[in-house]
Amino acid sequence: MLIFNKKALLQNHLEALKTAQSTIGFVPTMGALHEGHLSLMQRSLNENTITVISIFVNPTQFNNPEDLQKYPRTLEADAGKIKTLSDSIIIFAPEVDEMYDGNTISQHYNFDGLENQMEGAHRPGHFDGVGTIVKKLFDIVKPNNAYFGEKDFQQLQIVKKLVEKNNLPINIVGCPISREASGLAMSSRNARLSDTEKQEAAFIYKTLQEAKSKFSTSSIPQLKQFVEDAFASHPEFTTDYFEIAPEESLVPASIKENTKYRAFIAVFLGNVRLIDNISLN
Ligand code: AMP
Repeated sequence: MLIFNKKALLQNHLEALKTAQSTIGFVPTMGALHEGHLSLMQRSLNENTITVISIFVNPTQFNNPEDLQKYPRTLEADAGKIKTLSDSIIIFAPEVDEMYDGNTISQHYNFDGLENQMEGAHRPGHFDGVGTIVKKLFDIVKPNNAYFGEKDFQQLQIVKKLVEKNNLPINIVGCPISREASGLAMSSRNARLSDTEKQEAAFIYKTLQEAKSKFSTSSIPQLKQFVEDAFASHPEFTTDYFEIAPEESLVPASIKENTKYRAFIAVFLGNVRLIDNISLN
């Protein structure tokens, strides 16, 4: 299994590997890999002749310095997990300066308003950081297909918009959320939860499922009230937001129209911020 930390060496290797028939599948990650990440990689392996995955904790997408500092970095263990899937996966794990040339700042992006909702409103600058690093990685790897999890549904829609606005010849593939047996969405941040907190965190998905089961018979304000009340009786959580929004626009709705809706939630459990979402119809 090959691990590159210099972009030029990765690019040379990919140029040498490519044939007229080959396709490159790409899975960008920040490491601390779990089954969710591995499911994206497996999908890429199934659908491409070459699979590249990046492991890079991108400083410009963190609005909270403590979150960046505490983000788990486990490259050796990650490489071991990737190896269990396939020896042929190519890993790109650059240092910050390799990606930012000593100038660790974001470019400013307009994603037609997608960037202003939910995660964008609650994490200033987050999607400028995401756009900046994803564009840089796409320019280096030049994938045919790139795989993103619905766990970060807003990010998935933003990456689709980035590709559309820049006319990039890349197919963005959205992949379902991998969950623990308890229903908790897998996340690298779960490693910062105690065993008790992990059990408590199952309440997030349980509540989303209950909201889904009520969607056809309740109004959006009623559903929001239901979720607010549910979390009010669980003081271990602090809710950052709960919104119901159309999948395309992501603008929080109060009246149902004939479109696909999702519920989106961000909560703090202790000082760990967790997000999840569910399709409602
Ligand atoms: P991250 O390392 O958290 O930046 O995630 C890298 C990619 O894995 C992103 O496209 C995420 O949406 C995706 N991902 C993270 N957690 C999950 C999960 N539980 N299920 C599916 N995909 C996930």
